[in-house]
Amino acid sequence: MSILSKPDRNYFLNVDRNPILHGILKKTFYEQFCAGETDAETRATIRELKDMGFRGVIMTYAKETVFDHRTNTQQGLGIAALEAEKNNDTAHPLVAHCANIEAWRKGTAETVEQLDDGDYLAVKLTGAGPTVTDAFSKGELPPPQMLEALDQICARCKERNVRILVDAESHHFLSGILRVTLDLMRKYNRDGYALIYNTYQAYLKSTPETIAKHMTVAQQEGFTFGLKLVRGAYIASDERSLIHDTKDDTDAAYNGIAQGALKQTLGKFGVETTFPSVNLFLASHNKASVVDAHNLHQQRIAAGLPTVPVRFAQLHGMSDEVSFSLLQLKGGDGSPEVYKCSTWGTMGECLAYLLRRAIENRDAVLRTSDEYNALKAEFGRRLKSAFFLS
Ligand SMILES: Cc1cc2nc3c(=O)[nH]c(=O)nc-3n(C[C@H](O)[C@H](O)[C@H](O)COP(=O)(O)OP(=O)(O)OC[C@H]3O[C@@H](n4cnc5c(N)ncnc54)[C@H](O)[C@@H]3O)c2cc1C
Repeated sequence: MSILSKPDRNYFLNVDRNPILHGILKKTFYEQFCAGETDAETRATIRELKDMGFRGVIMTYAKETVFDHRTNTQQGLGIAALEAEKNNDTAHPLVAHCANIEAWRKGTAETVEQLDDGDYLAVKLTGAGPTVTDAFSKGELPPPQMLEALDQICARCKERNVRILVDAESHHFLSGILRVTLDLMRKYNRDGYALIYNTYQAYLKSTPETIAKHMTVAQQEGFTFGLKLVRGAYIASDERSLIHDTKDDTDAAYNGIAQGALKQTLGKFGVETTFPSVNLFLASHNKASVVDAHNLHQQRIAAGLPTVPVRFAQLHGMSDEVSFSLLQLKGGDGSPEVYKCSTWGTMGECLAYLLRRAIENRDAVLRTSDEYNALKAEFGRRLKSAFFLS
């Protein structure tokens, strides 16, 4: 997967041009983790996920750029995008019209139309190409064309009641992504709920401080803070020293932030100063993290204690046992609200995403023992009931 993700692929290693390689990957990796290469395939997958009982879907258009800290290179832009960049953006800081931003806008706008009322759009801002990632590398806002595209997408989502989760990406681009998303929250989260959520990676040592800064802005300026919490997916390419030293530290950070938000005591908020309006989105495959968070939320509601609205999500093709365990806890009030998050795009566009899923599923081997035990118990139950009936 890592070799196939490199931009200078020859015909045989180009997944969009070599039909045999494309066919093999489509039936194995792609169909496990992705929604579709076309609008029709994607809509069919969305229907299937909703029929399984999920509250809704989160859909992403796959185009993105990953920065590899070890080699100091960017990966993930499709060949077409690189060609467009060469043809159009030779002096790119000054370009008036960037073909990559337009391609990203078009793909993202198409994604919005695939979604229904109450669904979520997830966006990877680096998919808009080098003019945008160059600005993000410097912690700057992207060019006006990108800001206009984002504004147009947010307005359309608001009209269609589709909320937006802005993904956290490689650390190299993160300060720019956080900055542009905070501006969007400031503008659009003013109706008592979060239309826009920023994603915070609990594995980064700096995350509690980042959250505290953004909560201060939300409190002072009176908008709802959209807090999507993940552990973080770029451990293989980001600078290791920025990430907690052990998995236990990342787990403690994740659970501390999630439970602090649900108890409305996070850092100085809820202790020295009032707690701002927060909407929480917990994206995780860790069963203990999500079940504990749901139980805490229910206990606080039952005891009449303050808490914040919370929703849960797992990735399409991963940890169905966790998703269905959450769905089985569903009470009369419809909570927990569980979503499945999928990605659509051509095979080439989805490669960087598929590579992260391949790496992550090495961790998931640990979790498969839970799924194996659940399947074994279910098999035993069915066997017993078959004997009982006969
Ligand atoms: C709906 C959804 C949306 C997501 N969106 C994003 C996103 O926008 N950006 C993003 O970066 N990720 C995103 N992720 C992926 C997420 O960050 C995790 O990589 C993934 O879910 C695995 O973590 P987990 O919470 O499921 O738990 P687990 O499987 O219990 O934890 C695995 C994670 O722990 C951390 N970890 C593992 N080993 C170590 C170690 N030695 N030291 C320190 N930490 C370690 C890593 O973050 C690893 O991914 C998303 C996940 C979901 C479900």
